[in-house]
Amino acid sequence: MNCPTKLDDSILKRLKDIEFALDASTGIVIIDASGIIQYANAKYCELCKYDLEELIGNDQNMVHSESHTEAFLKDIQKATESGNVWKGEIKNKAKDGSNYWADTTIVPFMDAKGKPYQYIVISHNITARKKYEEIIESLAYTDSLTKLPNRNQFSKWIHNQPKKQDGIITALFLDLDNFKAINDNFGHDMGDFILKTVAGRLKENLRETGFTARLGGDEFIVILNNNENPKTVKEIAKTLVRQLSLPHNANGKQIFTTVSIGISSEPIPPGQEFSLAFIEALIKDADTAMYHAKRLGGNQFGFNNDHQNMVLERNYQLDLEMKEALLRNEFSVVYQPIVNLKNSKIVGAEALLRWQNRHLGTVAPNEFIPILEKNGLIVPVGKWILATVCSQMKYWQENGHLMQRICVNVSPIQFKDKQFIPDLKEILNESLLDASYLEVEITEGTILDIENSSRTINELKDLGVKVSIDDFGTGYSSLSYLKQLPIDTLKIDKSFIDDLDRDGEIIANTIISMGKNLNFRVIAEGIESIDQLDYLKKQKCHEGQGYYFSRPIGNKEITELFGRLG
Ligand code: C2E
Ligand code: MG
Ligand code: MG
Repeated sequence: MNCPTKLDDSILKRLKDIEFALDASTGIVIIDASGIIQYANAKYCELCKYDLEELIGNDQNMVHSESHTEAFLKDIQKATESGNVWKGEIKNKAKDGSNYWADTTIVPFMDAKGKPYQYIVISHNITARKKYEEIIESLAYTDSLTKLPNRNQFSKWIHNQPKKQDGIITALFLDLDNFKAINDNFGHDMGDFILKTVAGRLKENLRETGFTARLGGDEFIVILNNNENPKTVKEIAKTLVRQLSLPHNANGKQIFTTVSIGISSEPIPPGQEFSLAFIEALIKDADTAMYHAKRLGGNQFGFNNDHQNMVLERNYQLDLEMKEALLRNEFSVVYQPIVNLKNSKIVGAEALLRWQNRHLGTVAPNEFIPILEKNGLIVPVGKWILATVCSQMKYWQENGHLMQRICVNVSPIQFKDKQFIPDLKEILNESLLDASYLEVEITEGTILDIENSSRTINELKDLGVKVSIDDFGTGYSSLSYLKQLPIDTLKIDKSFIDDLDRDGEIIANTIISMGKNLNFRVIAEGIESIDQLDYLKKQKCHEGQGYYFSRPIGNKEITELFGRLG
């Protein structure tokens, strides 16, 4: 046993007594008041893996693992400096960098002035027990498959957060889009493999950012409480969506999966603390947002307070209600007169669809028509409009109202449907309406596919039906492009009429003069004022339509109006 010079003989003597009393597993080290190691026994050397020569004369800090908090170390100092024995468990660092746990007793020796001049530190190796405890703890708090924190650790983490926090807390709720299909098609081992790689990608991409846990199944949660701004949150979500959509390589097979992420960001309300209840509410909202992201097709993220989600919810309801709308007779048709600008006579009318729903009230066409197009119902609804309008027109004719044209809007979806022409033929036959009284309005978008659209337009022309291009000027077609098609009428979009006193004038003039040169009938849409009317008259625009003359009205009203002005 090496004995440093400074070591007090009396201590050494007492040490012998102590060593005798202690068992062979006890490590003993003596340090002076400034922390310099003066003595160590063989067991201590074995514990810390230093040779005795390396220890003696060096600072005892050499075995510090830096795993303990300042407060913990201060506590030891405070106890021993006042002459008390300290007992506790300390994690130290051995020479090879590994950590070991020691059940430690520190006995201070005090001088006459009541100050410690030496310490005996008695250590027992408890590393094995601690490791065992760590395993038990990790089993309880870690998801065994992905090694991510589980629900228990999530609750513990919430519990350990500072109660007072200001700023915004964000929850990201992640759910894989096609996980069930992976399990069903490739088996549970593959499912487990995907979950592991997903967890790996989450860890890699989030690193120090927030807290990530697997809640169960294919659900993960990320909490950001660093007051992240929405832009950063978006970036994080974007990265996760992108990274999780990359293929997974499983034994040479490429498996694809995507994720839907719902995000909820809220400040802790004034007077409230960071609590389980607050986080639970946040997660619930994030879960709802995730559900919306899934309904939009997955592979994306969405915010709980997102405008998009509100639109989505509304569209969902519209879609639901629409399915029964035809059966419930909720649709109706109104008519807006079209006026000859030269003699102010009504020459025809445009039929416009209206929807009055039992729950949602009146819904505007600009809102519900895109949904009818999306769910395909525009085809049967469009057919119903044509049938209604044709029989109404026939009725007017039979009752002496000599309206020259009735115009019906036809959606691109309906126009491209292979039943469109056969259905129309049937409707004309059944209503006995002469086809020359019917004009079909299509948009520029419909004729972009010139080959197919010109076939259908020609079929319409063969039937004797007229064709008009609606909202002209807002699409991509040019007048020379239209020249290739047997079109009858151009309707100048309302936006140019609105802008007549600005640059709309040039566009409107160009359309009117070129349209006339190409032998199209030109109609100005959305005339609201006498000034607009005067201007269009001066330009010799053929016809006009707009609130200035009449709003779209029911068939009774238009019958009366026709009686007065027709
Ligand atoms: P559109 O075919 O260009 O119809 C003209 C729209 O402008 C109508 O709106 C009409 O009410 C409105 N309008 C007419 N004059 C004025 C005016 O002076 N001022 C203003 N501010 N607006 C005016 P509505 O009925 O809301 O229809 C909007 C669009 O929905 C229509 O535009 C058309 O694209 C579509 N739509 C309406 N009914 C049908 C239909 O039966 N089938 C299809 N496929 N689409 C339809
Ligand atoms: Mg129209
Ligand atoms: Mg229009």
